Amino acid sequence: MKKSGKYNRILVTAALPYTNGYTHLGHVAGSFLPADMYARYCRLAGYDIIFICGSDEYGTPIALAAIKEGVSTKEIIDKYHYANKKAYEELGLSFDIFSRTSNETHAETAQEFFLNLYNKKLLYQKTEKQLYSEKENRFLADRFVVGTCPICGFEEATGDECENCGSALSPNQLINPKSKLTGDTPVIKDTVSYYFPLKDYQAKLEKWIDSKTDWKPNVVNYCKGWFKTGLQDRSITRELEWGVPVPIKGEEGKVIYIWFEAPIGYISMTKELFAQKGEPEKWKEYWQSKDTKLVNFLGKDNIIFHAIFFPAMLMAHGDFVLADNVPANEFMNLEGSKQSKSKGHAILLKDVVNKFNPDSIRYAIASNMPENKDTDFYWVDLQAKNNNELSAILGNFVNRTFVFCEKYFEGRVPESGTFAEIDSNIINSLKSYVERIASYYENYKFKDALGETMNLVRDANKYFNDTEPWKVIKEDKARCGTVINVCLQLCHTFAILFDPVLPFTSIKILNMLNTGKENFSWDKAAELTLNNGHKLNSPEILFRKIEDSEIEK
Ligand SMILES: [Zn+2]
Repeated sequence: MKKSGKYNRILVTAALPYTNGYTHLGHVAGSFLPADMYARYCRLAGYDIIFICGSDEYGTPIALAAIKEGVSTKEIIDKYHYANKKAYEELGLSFDIFSRTSNETHAETAQEFFLNLYNKKLLYQKTEKQLYSEKENRFLADRFVVGTCPICGFEEATGDECENCGSALSPNQLINPKSKLTGDTPVIKDTVSYYFPLKDYQAKLEKWIDSKTDWKPNVVNYCKGWFKTGLQDRSITRELEWGVPVPIKGEEGKVIYIWFEAPIGYISMTKELFAQKGEPEKWKEYWQSKDTKLVNFLGKDNIIFHAIFFPAMLMAHGDFVLADNVPANEFMNLEGSKQSKSKGHAILLKDVVNKFNPDSIRYAIASNMPENKDTDFYWVDLQAKNNNELSAILGNFVNRTFVFCEKYFEGRVPESGTFAEIDSNIINSLKSYVERIASYYENYKFKDALGETMNLVRDANKYFNDTEPWKVIKEDKARCGTVINVCLQLCHTFAILFDPVLPFTSIKILNMLNTGKENFSWDKAAELTLNNGHKLNSPEILFRKIEDSEIEK
């Protein structure tokens, strides 16, 4: 296997989607698509790579949704887990495993992790006052409490925030607190919470992040902001039923708080992956050897969890690798304002992935990816990218090459003959294109990678126009054959170079070329791999035009 710098293998994760709703395109732009493009590139480049993700299924919002809808938590998470998983498959996200934190392996792994820190006496206990409903016989976690905001007087504030003035709150601050479910007025009772000493890790974290010269400035700046404020110790347990139980005798009724438990999902899901492959110990190679490159993809709202909390947990535990990079994206807004599941202002992936070519959706998002600043998704952009770029540039080149070959060369790769200067120029340009595009992927510059790949297709179209095969065929069929041979070789190159962003199209091109994946790797992308006389399949249209009426809907 190929080495990546000092590393022998790559472990890619995408932020675990929370299972209280359907995935929207903002999530796709924030973490899933960049992670998938990177993973696909890494496979083509010949790295030993695995790509891990799954549903994050515990916590108060799901517990609350279940009670509100009068169904079990299991029904809620099943509904969204399977629907999201299906939509990801339809979008071509190539996870090696997409699992869920409600699985047994995850509970065991999270409990082991908790106990490891507890046994090393790294955690401490603190008695705190918490609201307790005697009617419901339970402590009321943040979102289970409503009351009046002490800051603005809004009467419907919840125990974690005031929707009216945006203040972050704790349940004890609310005036006239009531149970959200029963309206019962809670009493104050003592409860013991377990704390993770995050403060103690600040110096170590700062040093670690200072050593990361290749991290995106947005990520480093977020972290520096928190360091400046000073990290605070964090409670890692909750009085709640829906979660991974705290594995300590006498603490029944407490669960591990999700910010601590969920990221351990990356580890537990890797365990599951290799258990399924019949190699139950192999996950350790990925998590416990220093020559693994761990790359966590996520949106900016998750930076604190992946660049601060989780690394601090891993440092405290000591057995696991830390991230080599955390290439977080900013947000992709929808037609000018932030996408939000709760406000209903979002394009749900499941609703669009069947209506449009999934590759067109991937391309529209990737070419406008919020890598360094927020961007906007506009429906007319999807149409424009599909019609003016995918169809008019890539689709056009592949189509006219195949149609020409079928018409004049019986659908067989014509003899390559002797290359003229114009042929050699484009062939020789491939190597530097391929290297440049690879370097963009290696450095998480997906927009640039895509832009450069499209530039090569523009060159190919120019080559087709300049060599004028439609004229030459009448005068010099052999010369025309050389041109079409070069164009077909370029189609194979495109199948490889576009796979990270257009995986379905890539397979279509391979099918049209009637080749398998024998030369389907990055190091073959600059080579002429098709043999003279090789029989092709009939051309098909790669991208149909998106009409105005479809976009208006
Ligand atoms: Zn308020």
